[in-house]
Amino acid sequence: IKIKIVDIPVPITIGPAFEGETIRKKDAWVEFGGGRSTSFELVRMCDADQVEDGKIEVIGPEIDEMPEGSVFPLGIMVDIYGRKMQEDFEGVLERRVHYFINYGEGLWHVAQRNMMWVRIGKNAKAAGFKIKDLGEILIAKYKSDYPAIVDRVQVTIITDKDVIEDKIKIALEKYAARDARLKGLTDESVETYYSCTLCQSFAPNHVCIVSPERVGLCGAVSWLDAKASNEITPTGPNQPIEKGECMDPVKGSWKNLNDFIYTHSNRTVENVNFYTIMDSPMTSCGCFEAIMAILPLCNGIMITTREHGGETPCGMTFSALAGTCGGGVQTPGFMGIGRRYITSSKFIPADGGLGRIVWMPKELKEYLGQDLVDAAVRAGLGADFIDKIADETVGTTEDEILPFLEEKQHPALQMDPLM
Ligand code: SF4
Ligand code: ZN
Repeated sequence: IKIKIVDIPVPITIGPAFEGETIRKKDAWVEFGGGRSTSFELVRMCDADQVEDGKIEVIGPEIDEMPEGSVFPLGIMVDIYGRKMQEDFEGVLERRVHYFINYGEGLWHVAQRNMMWVRIGKNAKAAGFKIKDLGEILIAKYKSDYPAIVDRVQVTIITDKDVIEDKIKIALEKYAARDARLKGLTDESVETYYSCTLCQSFAPNHVCIVSPERVGLCGAVSWLDAKASNEITPTGPNQPIEKGECMDPVKGSWKNLNDFIYTHSNRTVENVNFYTIMDSPMTSCGCFEAIMAILPLCNGIMITTREHGGETPCGMTFSALAGTCGGGVQTPGFMGIGRRYITSSKFIPADGGLGRIVWMPKELKEYLGQDLVDAAVRAGLGADFIDKIADETVGTTEDEILPFLEEKQHPALQMDPLM
């Protein structure tokens, strides 16, 4: 293994030691995204003449023009030219933004794509850190970590509230195109799933298994991303696992997957059922976009998101749930997921699928939008299924939402008992 020490010209220390560092709101000089402002990050493959190596441009205010405790929009566009670069690698390299920024002392990054959320700590500001330095970190890390595929990098950072509304369109189009490439690929149509163990730096026993119809729970690693990542770094965090003998087709258990998980979870997880939340569900690290919990009285499940701060019918907020179920353990009845998994045809099929969802925040309904309607129609639940799902305007306890579910004749009430 080659270990390259790179000198990054920024006034803060950069290193994996700071990866787990949290920056609380009161310690942040400025924050971006996370539902408070528009944000996105995008890695694009470009032609040689479109990329000026090492160039960093900040469009909008620098940190000196941002008052203490303020919220600004943030768009990070990384343009890469490389003779060996492929479009399939974009998503993989984009996920690295999360890690690279978190390596900075006084920098904090969660989530991805247009959900990303960044804080710059007062300590980093005091040390002289500038918005432009985000670009310095990214350029240095991409060039040192991916020399085989990255020849030139330039970074554009947008903090202007008008410009970002224009530039985010480019990102949204790219995300949609990437997701579309997955369409038509089913779990059955491939023999090989991929592991992801990137989060073992936070949750040492956690192994994500990524299939065509199940995105990694951070929402940032699709099956195609994992496949591309393995091409880039064959010994890296994404390993192909041939499913092999199927132990349980309904719950979704395969011998080879279980063997892999057992070995790579430091022998803590013996069996994972891929298609259920009730019995040996997949483990959750800490970076899930959403989390599901069962609601016994309603015979269904609820989902809440990182963006929704409020109470939920299971009696816990997102952060309380994350504190209970994270860290790489199996917690039957609870499971962290990527948002896009909800509209997958393989959404907990062993538990009744989409029809089990009885509550989610309005924000998530809006985010899923037409995809949720389409998934409901595909599942035979009807286009109006989305209106049968309760949200915080209906109630935030099981007692409050049950009469609504009864009135709407929610399908979960007719399903087999969950427990
Ligand atoms: Fe990989 Fe899972 Fe972590 Fe996402 S949450 S980076 S898929 S281990
Ligand atoms: Zn994680």
